Amino acid sequence: MTVDYPPQPSQSALPYRLDDPVLHTRSTQPETMTASVAASLASFHAYLRSSKRILALVGAGLSASSGLPTFRGTGGLWRNHDAMELATPEAFSNDPSLVWQFYSARRAAALCAMPNKAHYALAELAKCMPEFLTLTQNVDGLSTRANHPPDQLLHLHGSLFSLKCTSFYCDFQEDNNFTHPLTPALAIASEVSAPYRHIQQADLPHCPKCNTGLLRPGVVWFGEPLPWRVVQAADDFISSGKVDLILVIGTSGTVYPAAGYVDRVRMQGGKVAVFNIDIDESDSEDELSEVESTGSYANRTTWTFEGDAAEWVPIALEPIVGHVELPQDSSGERSSLR
Ligand SMILES: [Zn+2]
Repeated sequence: MTVDYPPQPSQSALPYRLDDPVLHTRSTQPETMTASVAASLASFHAYLRSSKRILALVGAGLSASSGLPTFRGTGGLWRNHDAMELATPEAFSNDPSLVWQFYSARRAAALCAMPNKAHYALAELAKCMPEFLTLTQNVDGLSTRANHPPDQLLHLHGSLFSLKCTSFYCDFQEDNNFTHPLTPALAIASEVSAPYRHIQQADLPHCPKCNTGLLRPGVVWFGEPLPWRVVQAADDFISSGKVDLILVIGTSGTVYPAAGYVDRVRMQGGKVAVFNIDIDESDSEDELSEVESTGSYANRTTWTFEGDAAEWVPIALEPIVGHVELPQDSSGERSSLR
């Protein structure tokens, strides 16, 4: 199954700025890797070739070089509102106009970002390997836009591009709705200099099934449980056979929820590879420090690749997916967002 590439809004159509856009830059130059890193990569490649069942656990670092602003940390503000306080059921209940404008701006920003080579490499791995599953914490829709097979992609925190009906009596949910703006009134969220304007509830997105319920973004808000079906599907994958390898990408392997999945894979006898801009010491404690002979992985349980996941993941997966290039109309970096 293929996923249609969603329309890309032109830069000129998106004049808004988010208060603190952060674009990460590449810190690792794989082409200048040291002998020990090259040996580590060679032993990873050998193990990858022998692996039949692989799980990828993905976090924000996968999308960092795609030009996506972050609301985390200092400066996590949107129109002087704390972004964390807008991502709650209470905030939506109190002021759906404000919360919808925040999410409309985030949808637009995510549509401005482009999938990078790591998104495409994971999508290719899924096409090559039926027993491969990506469990993503990202809500940006970039894996879907890289044509990752949808039945091998689980969204642990939902998606900016999913919509759910808020009516208690209605079960409407729509995934992969890349329309922007969702209603004409929400276009104002994209205007950077326009003063904040309240939007009447009638002008916010409404459910096409029951025709009365207000739609909400299909993301997991603070205080909400993770989606049961997603957690169950990940559990089923792990318990239905040994997972040979877990790829921890753009997130630490030592914090929840990655740590729990890493532990389960290790208990089955599987091995771990971490790709992150910073590698925790405890991530690499099992890693052998001496230079290995090329191709040997017998005594090894962990590999760590420090730097931009967008650079490392395609190199690491190359024995299976081949050389990954971005589509011609795509770019891994959108510095014009600055
Ligand atoms: Zn409904």
